Amino acid sequence: MSDRFIFTKYRTDCYHCKQIADQTIKAVPYQAQVACDNCGATRIYVPRVQDVAKSGSYTKIGCYDLWELVETAQCRHCHVTGPHALTIGCRHFTIRCNNCGFTHFYKSDIEYIAKDELKN
Ligand SMILES: [Zn+2]
Ligand SMILES: [Zn+2]
Repeated sequence: MSDRFIFTKYRTDCYHCKQIADQTIKAVPYQAQVACDNCGATRIYVPRVQDVAKSGSYTKIGCYDLWELVETAQCRHCHVTGPHALTIGCRHFTIRCNNCGFTHFYKSDIEYIAKDELKN
């Protein structure tokens, strides 16, 4: 059993290099991360709250476009594998189970440019 929870990519313009590039999104219970495949700009989010909540309860206005995605994952609350709504902004990252409403709320922690990890 891996503790991988969400792993996906979202193609959009990067807030850092401004290029259209895949943004790799990874979330596990203790951390969430978004990294630009083009420039390596990485944002790390740390968990703050896990609770059953209404859709949008933890959505705050970010400083640029919110990304709203849907990914299949196994809920850690109801254990159903099904769609989870991801809402990613610059200061927060939420994952909400569409079945039971269980929401993981992460807040931004650090940002860095992972140049070393991009050597291809
Ligand atoms: Zn970038
Ligand atoms: Zn659930």
